[in-house]
Amino acid sequence: MSLLLIGSSRRTLTPLWTCSSCRRRVSKLATAGTARPTYKLPESPARTRFAPSPTGYLHLGSLRTALFSYLLAKSTNGSFLLRIEDTDQPRTVADAETRIKEDLKWAGLHWDEGPDVGGAYGPYKQSERLDIYRDHAAKLLDTGRAYRCFCARERRNLGDGLHASPRVKAHDCNRVSKDTSNGRAAQGDPFVVRLKLPEYTQRYRDLVFGNVTSSKISPMDADPVLMKSDNWPTYHLACVVDDHLMGITHVIRGSEWIPSVPTHLNLYDAFGWQPPTFGHVGLLTDLKGQKLSKRNFDLDISAYRKMGVLPDALSNFVALLGWSHTRKMDTMDLQELAQNFSTKFTKGDTKVSFDKLWFLQRQHARRIITSAKTPDDIQSIIQPILATLKQRCSSWVTSENGTLADQEDRLLQILKSDAPNYENASDFVERHKYTFDGPSAKDLVAVESPITVLGHQCHLSNVPGEIKSEVSNSSIIKVVRQISAILTQDSSLSADEKRKRLRDHFSDIVQSTAAQNLEEINGVDNDELIVALKKSWAALLHKYVRWALVADRPGPDSASLMAALGPMETLKRFDLAEKVALGQLGSNEMADTEK
Ligand SMILES: [Zn+2]
Repeated sequence: MSLLLIGSSRRTLTPLWTCSSCRRRVSKLATAGTARPTYKLPESPARTRFAPSPTGYLHLGSLRTALFSYLLAKSTNGSFLLRIEDTDQPRTVADAETRIKEDLKWAGLHWDEGPDVGGAYGPYKQSERLDIYRDHAAKLLDTGRAYRCFCARERRNLGDGLHASPRVKAHDCNRVSKDTSNGRAAQGDPFVVRLKLPEYTQRYRDLVFGNVTSSKISPMDADPVLMKSDNWPTYHLACVVDDHLMGITHVIRGSEWIPSVPTHLNLYDAFGWQPPTFGHVGLLTDLKGQKLSKRNFDLDISAYRKMGVLPDALSNFVALLGWSHTRKMDTMDLQELAQNFSTKFTKGDTKVSFDKLWFLQRQHARRIITSAKTPDDIQSIIQPILATLKQRCSSWVTSENGTLADQEDRLLQILKSDAPNYENASDFVERHKYTFDGPSAKDLVAVESPITVLGHQCHLSNVPGEIKSEVSNSSIIKVVRQISAILTQDSSLSADEKRKRLRDHFSDIVQSTAAQNLEEINGVDNDELIVALKKSWAALLHKYVRWALVADRPGPDSASLMAALGPMETLKRFDLAEKVALGQLGSNEMADTEK
């Protein structure tokens, strides 16, 4: 493994970390780049790739490199490739490739070339390209830039550094003549192919760090293995060969790959190829600076899906981890991210605050819900709600409650009425528990301001005494019956039309019944009092309806609610409320209505 010297100013020695290629704990000597990056996008279309190993699932960090690669391609009218790097067969997880592809598609990162969609440079799975790597290793053996190492397995497996360490016998495989080497190979002696590393520094321009000079190769570093003894390529060879053959122009990956850059640059040099532009983005850490792990929410992407996080919200959240833009608002969908993309990446690690994820989730949910015209526009939100309702409020999703299309239509109405507060399906169903399930008699009785306007039982402080003494429960109920009659008329009306009609009729009924009540109250000729009485009467009716429908809980306004619930469910709730209000339920019946 090699250390990198990045520029020469502001040298800092960062704490111990583990090199991913040799598992050694080393200090990372890194300094800020001297050349200031320009953040400009490439002028010609970029060909980028995401190249996951199916040894695990997609996590936040890997989704981020996939997303940055995708955005770089899309923002330059280029192409985004998916390549499956499955050369580490023993560590391959059976369903990882499928899950990675599903999660990428879910996040909207559709690849232009790759598995399932094909392309001119396939196959896009490394296990199907073994002959290509073998041919390329043979080329390097021919030109003398690589050699066969016949050292015993125990020594080969000691790791690059120890393989050539003075502690073991002098390593001389790279001085074996070609004929001897070919002869031993033909004889069946096991070997690995190593790249002959030159002892000079490499310079390259990193998209994140600017100009970078890698250190001289340490004498402790052995020549990296390109082909393993089982004739499978290592990551280094397969990755460099593929990136070149697939015409990749930009490689964005995590900073854990920085130590591999000198090897890769030497490989490009050995083949006589031009390397792509590299961009190494920093690690993701929690707020305490600890690398993200399962314990601090670096869950695989399907876990976020299960939490009900919207694809746009997650992509937006991940994009802002180590990249900044010049827009006023952070909320952007994939298309907007591509339109605003630049290479303004953060140097170094990025702290992840999950509060931001939920903020973006609410922003995206509101956008999606308010712009939806039909349930089809909003399936990503409706389907998880229906699934949650099946578990928690099964009565809502039965055929008695209308067809699936009806249910989806009603859900859309409820969503629209409370769009700014949507967080996820589970929270939404809980928040609108009474909307979906309806209050029980016990819930109705438990409401702190019951609608009992007879004398001292009245808790509605703004009801003037004149009304208190004249208005009875039964007169309110009479009015509510008139309102509910509207619901059963014109079943052909759309939910929007129904809601409008309910609102209009509601206010008509309030006005006319207020007038009737006033006539019954003798001697009211004060204009101010009449206005006050009308207002109180309207408030009282609204309060009653709200109480009957959802036990006075917040949520959609009553007209929207009635339109969304439909006539049957609304009448059922008015019926129960009437019995509770008139004290017509015995204790047995009270218990029966409990859910
Ligand atoms: Zn050797």
